[in-house]
Amino acid sequence: MDDVLVIGAGPVGLTTACQLARSGVPVRVVDALPEPTTESRAVGVHARSLEMLAALGVLPALEARGRRMGSLAMVDGETGEDRARIPLDGVASRHPYVLDVAQPDTEAVLADRAAELGVPVERGVRMTALTQDRDGVTVTLTSDDHEDVVRVGWVVGADGGHSTTRHLLGTRLEGDFHGQHFAMADVDIDTDLAPDSIRVFTHPEGLGLLFPLVGARARVMFLVDDPGSGAPDPTLAQIQDLADARMAGRVRVHDPRWLTWFEVHHAQVPRYRHDRVLLAGDAAHIHSPAGAQGMNTGIQDAANLAWKLALVARGAAAPRLLDTYHDERHPVGAEVVRTTTRLTDVGTASGAFGAVRDAALFLVGHVGRVRDAAATRLAEVSIGYRRSSLSQQAGRPGPVRPGDHAPDPQGLRRADGTPVAVEDLLTRPGFLLLVHGDGPGLSEALGDLGTVVRLGVDLVDPDAAYGDRGMVLVRPDGYVGLTAEDADPEVLRRYLTEALGIPTTAAV
Ligand SMILES: Cc1cc2nc3c(=O)[nH]c(=O)nc-3n(C[C@H](O)[C@H](O)[C@H](O)COP(=O)(O)OP(=O)(O)OC[C@H]3O[C@@H](n4cnc5c(N)ncnc54)[C@H](O)[C@@H]3O)c2cc1C
Repeated sequence: MDDVLVIGAGPVGLTTACQLARSGVPVRVVDALPEPTTESRAVGVHARSLEMLAALGVLPALEARGRRMGSLAMVDGETGEDRARIPLDGVASRHPYVLDVAQPDTEAVLADRAAELGVPVERGVRMTALTQDRDGVTVTLTSDDHEDVVRVGWVVGADGGHSTTRHLLGTRLEGDFHGQHFAMADVDIDTDLAPDSIRVFTHPEGLGLLFPLVGARARVMFLVDDPGSGAPDPTLAQIQDLADARMAGRVRVHDPRWLTWFEVHHAQVPRYRHDRVLLAGDAAHIHSPAGAQGMNTGIQDAANLAWKLALVARGAAAPRLLDTYHDERHPVGAEVVRTTTRLTDVGTASGAFGAVRDAALFLVGHVGRVRDAAATRLAEVSIGYRRSSLSQQAGRPGPVRPGDHAPDPQGLRRADGTPVAVEDLLTRPGFLLLVHGDGPGLSEALGDLGTVVRLGVDLVDPDAAYGDRGMVLVRPDGYVGLTAEDADPEVLRRYLTEALGIPTTAAV
């Protein structure tokens, strides 16, 4: 079995480390910072990320530190009037809301889980050199008093926007480096606005964003002109002036915890996999915080990568499986870079572009289908991998499509009547094979790669969301890999061997 070194204990590195540890892979996670960051940074966790974090068993702890947002409101920053509201309660997820939680809390919860799984974060340890050959990666880890050269099987570079891993691989972010500047503040606020919505204030001078956190705490952000390099941090008075101008005088800020300027670029690396070194999260893509997609995209990178890397590190699957990490996640990152750029421009538009923006907001506010599409997009539940080589269908199609996220239908229950969700079943590491009937031979074909659950026997699916025959193989990240009209062990074996590169005369 190969071991894995994760560089960076941000949300992406920690999610990767937890998933790998759960799958029984030896893993270390190092971080250059001697102490965890206190900067609130990414504050919105979306439905799809919540589904993935649920598999790690961290949701109750995360919810205890956060606040649920039931909608996203676009507000006219000059008048304070709602221009459009996108309710999230109709989103097809067990978590139809955004959880606003400060990034240090997210990291603390994930670090606790990693420690429970036997992977304490090694702090004050910086990766300073890295070379790889056919059999492994040689890494230099530098701390205050010494330098260690270690040899590992695989490296995940989750070391953020200024990634050393990326630099040492000789690759770089490609994209738009003009930069957009934000003034951001982690403060307490007094406001008459209910703390139930993320609010995007549109304003000709630049958008404003308001994310309510627990208690009176909130994150406010404003798109601003370049404050100039070396500019001192913004003052509370400057933040108040911006809030007065762009949040229609409805927000008073006080008790600051963190005031800073933040410059964003929009860019992505051309390849996520470099043989034995994989890039994930901000190391692979950077973009505007509009839409709060940065950390979410990274957490979903981690969920996609970790199960594949676990199979490869355990020697169960051929390394080519890791190419599908790039194939599936690079287009998602590219789309996020595109849409967050557009969203920021839209929030700032004036004149003719502003009129187009206003017409679009009218549609979002008044046309149900447009509103639902916007909610689905925001919650990231439309992300899927239908075109992936891992998404396969044998025989006639059923109601579930390969490449889509496995649905979690209402009314699903165990044979004894206890309600259950597919998400609960995914807390067991590995694949989930849902099969109609007894499915003879399928347990042997799947081996210890996952769990077989029999529909109609172990599980009652009252509305036949999973059809009435055959089988559905759900990947550990919750996406559907294979659907088959017949519950045929040979079809499963062929999929595991040909699509995933897992030799399965006896599945490992
Ligand atoms: C000022 C600021 C404000 C932001 N605001 C928002 C927001 O409002 N909404 C949003 O969605 N996103 C926001 N982001 C982006 C969000 O924080 C990132 O998308 C998210 O943190 C990505 O997680 P990550 O794990 O990939 O990287 P990071 O969280 O950056 O973690 C990388 C980790 O790697 C460590 N590291 C770096 N180099 C090395 C090395 N050589 N060796 C060992 N360890 C190393 C770092 O110490 C760090 O802990 C903000 C970012 C910044 C900087």
